[in-house]
Amino acid sequence: MSLTIPQPLYDQLRAHGEETYPHECCGIMLGKADGDNITVHELLRAGNTRTDSAHNRYHIAPQELIAAQRQGRKSGLDIVGFYHSHPDHPAQWSPTDFAEAHWFGCAYVITSVDGDKTTGHAKITNSFLLTGTSEDDKAFVTQPIEVS
Ligand SMILES: [Zn+2]
Repeated sequence: MSLTIPQPLYDQLRAHGEETYPHECCGIMLGKADGDNITVHELLRAGNTRTDSAHNRYHIAPQELIAAQRQGRKSGLDIVGFYHSHPDHPAQWSPTDFAEAHWFGCAYVITSVDGDKTTGHAKITNSFLLTGTSEDDKAFVTQPIEVS
C-alpha cells in the first residue's frame, strides 16, 4: 500500500509548494494503480481557485479534472491522486481536506512548507490513501512514500 514517485516529480511537487508560499499550491497526479499500490508518472499543476483563503484551503476546478483525465487517457494513465501544500502547518490532513476528499483509492499528498513571509522551504511530505466506498465509511490511511 505504497505511493511510488520518481525523484524528479517528488522534487517538483515540493518545489511547487515553495513557489506559491505563503499560499497553498495544488495539483493532480497521473499514474497507475495496482490494487493499493500507486505509481505516479506525471504531475499536473492546478490553479488554486479558492481565492477567499488560499492559505488553508485548496480547490481544483472540475474543468481541470476533466482536462487531466483527458490528458491521462492519451498515455494510458489515470488520476491516482492529488497534492497540496500546508504553508506553516503540519503535513497532516485537516477536517476540510477530509470533507472535500471524494476520490476513493486515490492518494492525497500534503507537504508542509515553513518560511518567513517571502521564502518557503518544503519540510515534510506525507501521503494519505482515501479508503472506503462511500462518505459513510471513508477514511484516510497513512501511506508510505517510496521515492524511486
Ligand atoms: Zn490541506
